[in-house]
This record gives sequence, structure tokens and C-alpha cells, in this order.
Amino acid sequence: MSVITKPGKSEKPMLSSVGNPGTMNALVYYGPGKKFWKEKPIPVIGEPTDALVKILKTTICGTDLHIMKGDVPDVEPGTTIGHEGVGIIEEVGIGVSNFKKGDHVLISCITSCGKCDYCKKGMYSHCENGGWILGHLIDGTQAEYVRIPHADNSLYHIPDGSDEEALVMLSDILPTGFECGVLNGRVQPGSTVAIVGSGPIGLAALLTAQFYSPAQIIMIDPDDNRLAVAKTFGATEIINNSIENTVERVNVLTGNKGADAVIEAVGIPATFELCQSLVAPGGTIANIGVHGKSAELHLERLWAHNITITTRLVDTVTTPMLLKTVQSKKLDASQLITHRFKLSDIISAYDTFQNAAKEKALKVILTNE
Ligand SMILES: [Zn+2]
Ligand SMILES: [Zn+2]
Repeated sequence: MSVITKPGKSEKPMLSSVGNPGTMNALVYYGPGKKFWKEKPIPVIGEPTDALVKILKTTICGTDLHIMKGDVPDVEPGTTIGHEGVGIIEEVGIGVSNFKKGDHVLISCITSCGKCDYCKKGMYSHCENGGWILGHLIDGTQAEYVRIPHADNSLYHIPDGSDEEALVMLSDILPTGFECGVLNGRVQPGSTVAIVGSGPIGLAALLTAQFYSPAQIIMIDPDDNRLAVAKTFGATEIINNSIENTVERVNVLTGNKGADAVIEAVGIPATFELCQSLVAPGGTIANIGVHGKSAELHLERLWAHNITITTRLVDTVTTPMLLKTVQSKKLDASQLITHRFKLSDIISAYDTFQNAAKEKALKVILTNE
């Protein structure tokens, strides 16, 4: 993920101006394979546009596991991980006008100033003063408190009486599945959708694809449990690609046409190459996966197939819309939550999430008690 600038770290070993004792606990990355739940100074307001948020609920993302493996080398040792969560505003800088102390807020995984050229185009992920920085270039949300830069544009009000656990799914995975998979994939009424990868992101694409009433949604994954979950979430067909010939099955299911929208939700060369064998003429391959290696592109076949390949970072521009669908129960985001821990038990939560297949884990919720 490319991030152009990085706001300065304002965490200093000093008392917070709100009269907190000055320290909190946070999940801190110390290089590949090394993480500790340890005491750190509570962040302080550094810029007038900052907000200090007390975390109520947060979660762990597949991206955090990549960081822990050392796949995201620009994460410096000493950084607090995490880019998802809901919380309550503890303090705001003098330049923040949309939020005040005591407001319940949803934290977007993308920080955006709302003013730069990219933000004006709705490409918040490429914000010149933000983008994906939380739990990456600045301290993140797997902590008791987090500093949110550009608070006015990077936080969302949570209506009273909301299911705050469900809303944690709106920080990243639902907008990611929807924007990078469903919107980029141009899912339409009556169309055929194939989703490669039935993890939380693939399932988020499955849930939000149904806004458009596609005729078929085929889920593809090597894990039978995840496929069974996909079935209960609305998949019309499931394929275990570790034991079945996926291309043959998709051909049978689609009258040898292939799928109109093929959504890649894994991020390895083999799955991206599989997508190329599943896409119908005129169809779209919408990549969501975070790729660390180059993949082959079969132009010798695809050049004449009128296909589109899309890539995108989530911009979270659809978060307000998704918030309404969760509020009105058109979208049941809480289905994605399988495990719950206290925030102070985050090391056990990582163990569970890392062994997702064995533990039958999708998303874990961590509550700051
Ligand atoms: Zn994430
Ligand atoms: Zn911007």
C-alpha cells in the first residue's frame, strides 16, 4: 500500500491534557514475530484537526497478520497496530468541528484530509496527508486510546442504540468488500458472481453483492467451514478448490460462459490466475487481495475477451451508505463476528485469529473493559 506523506508522531511521554494518568496499554509491534501488550503513553492532540478517541471495541485484520510476519516493512518497531474500531471521543483539537467530547464514533481505516486533490476525487486512500496510516505509519487502534488525524473526515457518528460490535465491521472489511469487489466488479441484477476466497473480506463482498440481486454467487475456498458459512450468507453455489476442478464446475454452473464478475479476495498469484480462467467474455476481474508477488496475465487468451481488470485500495467513501444499511438491518454485519475477547487478552485473540481454520474464526471482537 503506498502512502505519500506521514503525519508526525505526536506521542510524547507526557501527561495527556485530559487529566488521564498518562499511560495506557497497547499492542505494540517490535519486528517480525514480536508483539507485546504493554504500557505506553496515552496519545496527545498534536494538530488542531486531531481527535483523541477512547477505544470501546476493535478487531484484528488479515493485514495485521501480514505486518506481524514482516510483510509490511514500513511499519516501524514500536508502532501500535490496528486500523479498525469504535470508540468515544475523549478530546478534540480546536480545528475539529464535527465532533465533541463524549460522541460515539466509528473509526475509518483510511485517514483523509478531505482537501487534497485525491480527496476531492473521493480517492481518500491516496490522501496526500493520510491514506492507510493507522496502525501502519502512526499508532493504531489496538490500544486503549488512539489519536485520529483529520478527525472531521476520518470518523463517523454512531447513532444511539447501535450495535457497536457490528459497526466495527464498517471500519474496513465491509467497505473493502463492497468498493474493491462489488462496485469495481460491476455486479448487476441477474449477473453471475464468482468470489475466490471465503475469508472475512470475501464474505463481506458476498454480503454486499446481494444489494444488487445477482442471479448466482459462487464462493470458492479450500476451507469447508468457510464455504458452509458462505452458504448461510447467501452463496448460491460453493466450490472447494482443494478437491474440485473449479474451472470445470464454474463452466457447468454458467453454461460454459464463466462469471460476469470475478472477485479476487486472497492475494496470491494462483488465485489471481484462477480468476482469469473463470471470467466470462465481457466480464470483470475485481482484485481485492493484497499481492506480494507478481502474477501471470494470460493475454494470449484474454486479449479478445473484452474483459476489465480492476485494482483499488478501499477509499471508505461508501461508509455512510453502509452505516445506513446496517442501521436498517438490510445488512447483518454481526454475522461476521465469531469470537470475543477482552482487549487485554489480545495476545490470545491473535492466537485464535492466526489459526482461523482450526478455530473456525472469522472476525474477533476485542472490548476495552
Ligand atoms: Zn484491515
Ligand atoms: Zn486528502
